[in-house]
Amino acid sequence: MDSAIRIRDLEKEYGEVRALKGVDLDVPKGSFFGLLGPNGAGKTTFINILVGLVKKSGGTAEVFGADVEDDYREARDRIGLAPQEFNVDRFFPIREVLEHKAGYHGIPKSEARDRADEVLKRVGIYDKRDTRFDWLSGGMKRRFVLARALITEPDLLILDEPTAGVDVQLRHDLWDLITELNESGTTILLTTHYIEEAERLCDEVAILDSGQIVEVASPEELMGRGPDKVTISLRN
Ligand code: ATP
Repeated sequence: MDSAIRIRDLEKEYGEVRALKGVDLDVPKGSFFGLLGPNGAGKTTFINILVGLVKKSGGTAEVFGADVEDDYREARDRIGLAPQEFNVDRFFPIREVLEHKAGYHGIPKSEARDRADEVLKRVGIYDKRDTRFDWLSGGMKRRFVLARALITEPDLLILDEPTAGVDVQLRHDLWDLITELNESGTTILLTTHYIEEAERLCDEVAILDSGQIVEVASPEELMGRGPDKVTISLRN
């Protein structure tokens, strides 16, 4: 299989806490892959290792064949991350924040503004380009975080609970947008607590529980066992 993400025996310890316990996982190139699990299962830790925010304690983690620690730059430039916690420069107009991010990733200044405008249009907040992040509504903030993840035209887009707490309209808009991205070839890794979101969007789903992958299946297979069982396993 041609993997976008290839994980073997991945371990993470925070002092006494074993957040990841020997995780093996392959996310195929071009897939829409769901990572589900209850609070504290290790989903954010897993993502943070992929993007270099957290150092693993053991095992290997590769993105498109590049080791996330040894070949950090190569791996990182191909990943777009829309994190759960917004960590955005709040005091500058959002277009400038995007241009700055583009520059950080080596995109020439002459291209950066066009790219920023393009992604702002794509997520539907171009009219807010001169507004600072703080002044956006909650839904617009979500859209902006997605725009920021897209500025580098990533081959792998990681979305950490992108629709948590958003209204139905925005949830559907985001679903449409990320489905389009996947159809145009972007591999997507999505974490969610909503089984119906995974069922609607994902080709394959892994369930992470207490730092271990307990199941990899299609959403239909999971739902076939009864939504109650899945919900229970997600709640522990
Ligand atoms: P949620 O769905 O609530 O966001 P999660 O599946 O993303 O949870 P993580 O945030 O990765 O889970 O946490 C996994 C475990 O590691 C938890 O027990 C958590 O308390 C612990 N943990 C996470 N970050 C740290 C840290 N910086 N220091 C110590 N323990 C941590």
